Amino acid sequence: MPATIDLHCHSNISDGLYAPQDLVAHANKRGVKVLALTDHDDLGGLAIARKTAEQEGLKFIDGVEISVTWKKRTLHIVGLKIDPENMALKQALDNVRENRTQRAREMAEGLAEVGIESSFEGAQEIAGKGILTRMHYARFLVENGHAKNIKAVFKKFLVKGKPGFVDHQWMSLKEAVTLIRESGGYAVIAHPGRYDLGRINIHLLMHEFRSYGGDAIEVVTGSHTPSQYQQFAEIAHKFSLKSSLGSDFHGPGISYMEMGCISELPKKCVPIWGDWDEAQYLV
Ligand code: AMP
Ligand code: MN
Ligand code: MN
Ligand code: MN
Repeated sequence: MPATIDLHCHSNISDGLYAPQDLVAHANKRGVKVLALTDHDDLGGLAIARKTAEQEGLKFIDGVEISVTWKKRTLHIVGLKIDPENMALKQALDNVRENRTQRAREMAEGLAEVGIESSFEGAQEIAGKGILTRMHYARFLVENGHAKNIKAVFKKFLVKGKPGFVDHQWMSLKEAVTLIRESGGYAVIAHPGRYDLGRINIHLLMHEFRSYGGDAIEVVTGSHTPSQYQQFAEIAHKFSLKSSLGSDFHGPGISYMEMGCISELPKKCVPIWGDWDEAQYLV
């Protein structure tokens, strides 16, 4: 049986394909009962998503996915049950989005150096009113025939050492966890299997994260393999962290996983939603 809770996905407020209300309708159609919207560095979709969820009969969790720089790596920290009106959180994310625009201009400069013109304008057109992410550049580059799909385009242009990559400084791990916690939320390390951390760095990260008040890690996510579910279930247990689960759905054709078909948490995990009213029928 697939899980009926999904605590990680994106709308077109960040780099997803669907508008928040369409994303909630999609989740409903796919059998999701408890949904968190976790756009990158932006809370702008939460109000309309919550309203739609209430109309459609889903339980809704306010969320966000914050980009962080830790030991020269980019990590993603998901905040769940955050307060979308919290001033400190809103201001910090306003600041992140401003810096994202500057970074996007630098990405376009890098691409221009290899003969790809007007990518800033092209990516911006795809993003619409939403923030600018590498995903928008990826879509622009694919649409213009520079690679055959999203996966290939990242490899060719958008990762370290490639022309569209900018080594950006995001907020610190401490700041992200503190902002999430102080707005009443729970902090979760997103897709820990994607950072290519060795044993020592995993140990350091889990300790540091916990010392700031971090709550959980994503054990089951669209970007983990089933053997990583087991690996990170062990790590959560070892470091006394709770576990979270989410598809990281962005839209058909551009995400690791569709909604509504993700596995449940391994038995030994302590679910982050254990004492949430919204998820009582699940526990
Ligand atoms: P940014 O936050 O602007 O660096 O954009 C990162 C986003 O790009 C992630 O949230 C994913 O949606 C997407 N992404 C990053 N790496 C890849 C990849 N290798 N393949 C597909 N999508 C990726
Ligand atoms: Mn994304
Ligand atoms: Mn992420
Ligand atoms: Mn995500």
